[in-house]
Formats: sequence, C-alpha cells, structure tokens
Amino acid sequence: MRKQRSGPFVVPARDIVFHPGEMREFTLDVPAPEKWGEGLVSVAEGDSVLVEVRLESVHEGILATGRIETEYVGVCGRCLTDIAEPVEVEFQELFAYPGTEATDFEVQDDHVDLETLVRDAIVLALPFQPVCQPDCPGLDPATGERLATSTGSEQREPLDVRWAALQKFTPDHDEEAPRA
Ligand SMILES: [Zn+2]
Repeated sequence: MRKQRSGPFVVPARDIVFHPGEMREFTLDVPAPEKWGEGLVSVAEGDSVLVEVRLESVHEGILATGRIETEYVGVCGRCLTDIAEPVEVEFQELFAYPGTEATDFEVQDDHVDLETLVRDAIVLALPFQPVCQPDCPGLDPATGERLATSTGSEQREPLDVRWAALQKFTPDHDEEAPRA
C-alpha cells in the first residue's frame, strides 16, 4: 500500500474513523501541485482545483464521494489554437482501513489523502482530442493557416498586403506629393 506524506489534499477524518454512519463534508480549493495530464491539454501547475467531498464512515473504511472542478489549458487538436475549458468530474472511492481490504487507497491514521484520487480522476476526464469549438474547421491543407468560417484566406495573404503598400510609391503618387 502506498504511503503518502501529508499534502494539500489531505482531509482529516479523526472524528469519524471507526464510527460507521458518521460523515463529514469538506471543500478544498487547492492549486494543482504540478502539471496534470500529458496530452494536448492539461491542468497547469498552480491552477485552482476545487474539490467538494463527503467522507462517510463505513465498516471497511472511509467512503469518499465528491466532485472536482478545475480548468484545462492546451491547444485545439485540429487548428492548434490555444484553448482553456472547465472540467468537472465526480468520484467515489473507498479508503479502507489498513489490513482490511485490498484497495488502492487506505485511511492513514486519522486522515485520507485525496491527491492521487483527484489527479487520476482529472487526467482520465481530459479529452484526447480537444477542440476549440465542436465544428472547428481545422487548418487549410495548402497554406497551413487556420480555416475560419467568415474570413477569406486570400485577403490574408502577405503578397496582397505588400502590393497594397507598394502602390503608395508609384510615380503617380510621388508627383501628387512633391517635397519642398
Ligand atoms: Zn480549433
């Protein structure tokens, strides 16, 4: 069984351990201790992670039920635009008393540490193929630029801009703007 030091997601359970039927509710607002997620999007280190949890004393241990709210940041999988979206996930896990059950989580003395549980729940909830909007058109295969629904790509080409600038320096314009 894993042993963890006390950390930001440690919740006290002293009042309810070995008192089946008792419960306590907690709200944590903790900065993510490190970047969570390895894909196109992740929860950034230091971003707020809100956890509402109810600890319920049962015969086998402490049942933790709750929900997590945070935000992921990253890039759209189609057009690579920066995106930031809220993510919300619910969880329920049993923290067993040591030696009673084979489980991923154990009650540690008089507390439970939700960090691994919260991190795993968030990472599993992150989208593999995040998009900036459901109908993101992606990138133009020819130019590699982002396709937008309302803007014609021709107007954005640098060549047009340079031609427009050069028109200021045609002979006609020079004659119309003589210098002293
Ligand atoms: Zn996109």
